[in-house]
Amino acid sequence: MLDLIVRGARFRAADGLRTADIGIAAGRIATIATSLAPSGTQVPVLEAGGGLVVPGFVETHVHLDKTCILDRVAIREGTLDEAIRETAQAKRGFTAEDVFARGRRTLEKSISHGVTRMRTHVEVDPGIGLQGFAGVQRLARDYAWAIDLQLCVFPQEGLINNPGTHALLVQALRDGAGVIGAAPYADSDPRGQIDRIFEIAREFDVDIDMHLDLAETTDGMQAEYVCHRTEEFGWGGRVTIGHVTQASLLAPDEFASLATRLAGAGVGVTILPATDLYLMGRAPTRAKPRGVVPAAPLLAHGVNCTISTNNVLNPFTPYGDASPIRMANLYANVCHAAGDAALGDCMAMITDRAARQLRVAVYGITEGAPADLILLDATDPAGAIAELAQPLWGLKAGHMTFRRERAVLLPP
Ligand SMILES: [Zn+2]
Repeated sequence: MLDLIVRGARFRAADGLRTADIGIAAGRIATIATSLAPSGTQVPVLEAGGGLVVPGFVETHVHLDKTCILDRVAIREGTLDEAIRETAQAKRGFTAEDVFARGRRTLEKSISHGVTRMRTHVEVDPGIGLQGFAGVQRLARDYAWAIDLQLCVFPQEGLINNPGTHALLVQALRDGAGVIGAAPYADSDPRGQIDRIFEIAREFDVDIDMHLDLAETTDGMQAEYVCHRTEEFGWGGRVTIGHVTQASLLAPDEFASLATRLAGAGVGVTILPATDLYLMGRAPTRAKPRGVVPAAPLLAHGVNCTISTNNVLNPFTPYGDASPIRMANLYANVCHAAGDAALGDCMAMITDRAARQLRVAVYGITEGAPADLILLDATDPAGAIAELAQPLWGLKAGHMTFRRERAVLLPP
């Protein structure tokens, strides 16, 4: 017995694009066939009308706890140091209620842009304690009808240099955080922080997602060291590094060697174009580097990559609508991705590849997968990225979570 039929869905199958009906039962895709909805069917029908249906977008890297704080900070330099400093200052006024109220503004935008799964980083330190964590935990509970929210706790203001932070990270992991993060560049002892994070990950058997190598020169890169630790701890496939803007400054042979190393160690890369474009390239007065690490040569070497939103409306990124398709388009534009294959990769980096990086067990438009589906105003993945196709409706576990109307022209 089906609960819902999505009629006329165009989607990517193993052998290319096909159009079929998707039958949903008990929150999962039960069957896919050419025609599931004969006239007179008693099962509710949701029309896709030949439009592109993709599995719900997966955001691998967002900061809901520090979103929407532009009215509380002063941005003069637009640098990483200033962003950390200003946010730390604003954070002193955060409460769990406040984090919830701001976080929901961005989370609701995410949901309306087709996101059905998100890893959100949450800052934990003696200043904020576990209040940010509590606020985001409430978001996870209250919005479970639309999105799976995974919490990654991390020490934005340092770990080795910030006594009390370690105990709070451990407490958050005991209280349900699913992933441990890091920001070694914000620590007096970056490698000390990396070592400590790997030890915590092993103790709690959780994946690792580090902010890494976010700077404007190639000095002091830690990616190789993280690969080394990943192999020592046997954590291949469970480690992600985000930003890695320094890699964008490497010579091609050095870049290829790093890509080989990452692929071999099983370390994935998250590309955060909005933040990297905004924070990097501040020092040069001309010929400014873009600071966005190119995915194509990483993918070619076998590194799994994702594209994600990161920050919205704060000193790290004073923009944002929490739209993965916009972020993929921004990445494509900056990194010269064009044509069906390269733009298809961009779509994969906000869907299949992102789900793989979060180690989602069953994902995609396939029988048995959760019925987390969105209809895009497009007919193929490359076109959707190129034209910033808007999501027209979304399903979470077979239930509709949002709807967007197409614009209608009104001639005189
Ligand atoms: Zn981040």
